[in-house]
Amino acid sequence: MDLGIAGKTALVGGASKGLGYGCALALVREGVNVVIVARGHDALEAARQRLLAERTRPDSFVKAVAVDITTPQGREAVFAEQADFDIVVTNAGGPPPGDFRDWDREAWVRAVEANMLTPIELIRATVDKMAERGFGRIVNITSSAVKAPIDVLGLSNGARSGLTGFVAGVARSGIAARGVTINNLLPGAFETDRLTSTFSAVAAKTGKDIEALRKERLAGIPARRFGNAEEFGAICAFLCSVHAGYMTGQNVLADGGTYPGTF
Ligand code: NAP
Repeated sequence: MDLGIAGKTALVGGASKGLGYGCALALVREGVNVVIVARGHDALEAARQRLLAERTRPDSFVKAVAVDITTPQGREAVFAEQADFDIVVTNAGGPPPGDFRDWDREAWVRAVEANMLTPIELIRATVDKMAERGFGRIVNITSSAVKAPIDVLGLSNGARSGLTGFVAGVARSGIAARGVTINNLLPGAFETDRLTSTFSAVAAKTGKDIEALRKERLAGIPARRFGNAEEFGAICAFLCSVHAGYMTGQNVLADGGTYPGTF
């Protein structure tokens, strides 16, 4: 299926590896120009090189901006590199797992900055220009924890729920009639470094073996496997496509059937 977005320009946060990289890869393969962001310069440059090799449109570009996208300076550097975007995939890594008794106000402010206010700032900076051009796609990478909270990920459960409430409102505002969609993409368990670090944290808290924890988690996933970044990227690219123009304000779950609800 031709997604109809060749020649568009996308910003993808947290894209040197994991789910963000998967999204950037799917968009590059669709002929989209991509600006990728992560803090670590070397891994980001390596990702840029891999993406350049995947281009299907030789004149498309892949730019890399090595900054912390959760800071105002980081976002300024991104917009200095590329002023306008047709597609924005918000992602900045998740807050650390732990016990809520150990999280002070500062820990909560950091989580809200990264997982709620940063996507909101990126939406604020881009949607009106998208609406002027009559096309725009925002996809926020959030978490299945928004629908089914995970105990040790309390910072994520809380901060991302705030973003989800905001998006539900703004997606249905005036921009909806001007070609701009905003959706959240909710990963369940995907095989990335983030998943490994979450298992390590649970192991440290419970004293359980990591391999036993992985098996336990797999047993609760009807698909009996973890997801991979490439298939996650394909869903993201579809949400960014011309074909998804009538989908907005949705929370799209990709979790191998783990969430047990009918809706
Ligand atoms: P990952 O493999 O750890 O990758 C995170 C990426 O984001 C890296 O490229 C990292 O590079 C970058 N990043 C982190 N903080 C950043 C910042 N402040 N500014 C710019 N870039 C930043 O994580 P993932 O598994 O792809 O997860 C992506 C998102 O999905 C996270 O929010 C995570 O909580 C959520 N999620 C993941 C799963 C899962 O199973 N994997 C499940 C539910 C939710 P640098 O460190 O170099 O900046």
